[in-house]
Amino acid sequence: MELVVVRPQGLYCPPGDFYIDPWRPVERAVLTHAHGDHARPGSTKYLATTYAEPVLRKRLGDASFDLVAYASPIDMHGVKVSLHPAGHILGSAQVRIEYRGEVWAVSGDYKLEADSTCAPFEPVRCHTFVTESTFGLPIYRWTPQRQVFDEINAWWQANAAQRRPSVLYGYALGKAQRLLAGVDAAIGPILCHGAVELVNAAYRLAGVTLPHTARVGEIPAVQYPRALIVAPPSAQSTTWLRRFPGLSDGFASGWMRLRGARRRRGVDRGFVLSDHADWPGLLQAVSQTGAARIIVTHGYSNVVARWLQQHGLRASTFDTEFGDEETGAPAAADDAESAARMPEAALIAQ
Ligand SMILES: [Zn+2]
Ligand SMILES: [Zn+2]
Repeated sequence: MELVVVRPQGLYCPPGDFYIDPWRPVERAVLTHAHGDHARPGSTKYLATTYAEPVLRKRLGDASFDLVAYASPIDMHGVKVSLHPAGHILGSAQVRIEYRGEVWAVSGDYKLEADSTCAPFEPVRCHTFVTESTFGLPIYRWTPQRQVFDEINAWWQANAAQRRPSVLYGYALGKAQRLLAGVDAAIGPILCHGAVELVNAAYRLAGVTLPHTARVGEIPAVQYPRALIVAPPSAQSTTWLRRFPGLSDGFASGWMRLRGARRRRGVDRGFVLSDHADWPGLLQAVSQTGAARIIVTHGYSNVVARWLQQHGLRASTFDTEFGDEETGAPAAADDAESAARMPEAALIAQ
C-alpha cells in the first residue's frame, strides 16, 4: 500500500487523509520544519513539533496548530503518525507513518552533523524512506564543522586586527543561529540584521543558547570595526551595508563547495557549511533506515535514485515543489546550474 503519494497540493497520505509540507492550502498539514518551502500558509490545521512553534508562528501567524513532542505518536484515521528529529533546524522533524504493519518515513530536510541549536538527527527504521537530495552528488562532502568554524574565527580575528567589519551571510532561519552558536564570541561584538535577530528571539524562547547579539544602533559605531555582522544573503546588495565601511564579507553555504561559487557570489570568503546532508550523509541516512525502497525528492533526485538502483535498492523519485533555502539570492542559482551539468562526471569520479 502506498502510504505517501504526490497530489497537486503536495505529498499526501491516503489512509491518514493528511498532507506533508503541502505547497497548496489543505485541510490537514503535517509540517517537517519552518522553512518557507515546507511551511506554507493557508491550511486549516497544522501538526508540527512543539520546538518549531515559535518560528512557525512567525511564518504562519495565528494558524491552528497541534503540537507534539518528538516520538509521540498520534492517530489519524487509524494511521500512527509521529515526528522524529531531523537535525536540520530547530524543531525540524522526519514524519514516521505506520499503517497495518507498514512503516514509511518522510525526511523533510536533514543533516547528520551535530548542531547545538537543534536536536540531532535520529534514523527512523522503515520499509520505505522518502529522502531529500539537495546535495546529492558525490562532489558534496562537508569539511568537519570545527574546521569551518576555525576558518571563520581566524577570518574575523584578522579583520578585527585590521579594523575591518566582518559581514557573514547565512540564511536567517537556522544557518544564522548555527553560525552564532559556533563562533568565538570573545573576538568581538556580534551584530545581527533585523531578520536574523527576530529568529534569534524565537530560538532563545525555545531554550537554545546563543551568544549575546545586538542590532545595529544598539552598540556604538566605533565598535563596528571589531564586530561580526550576521546577515541574510538578501542584505548583500542593500544600503544597510553602508554603515560598515571597509568591510570584508563571507558567505556560509553548502554551495561554497563548488569551484567558482565564491567568485560568482561576489564575496571575499566562502565557508562550506550546510544544514543538509552531504553525499556520504545521504547514503548513511538511507542505510540506517534499513528501508528496501527509497523515494527521492528535491535536489539531485535522479542521480541519487539511479545510484541507489545500481546498488540494489528499489528507488524512484517524487516531483515536489520544495526548494533550497541555502541558495539565498539569485547568484547561487548559477552554482546550482553548474552543478546540475556535472552529475555524470561527478559519478565517474566516484
Ligand atoms: Zn529546510
Ligand atoms: Zn527544503
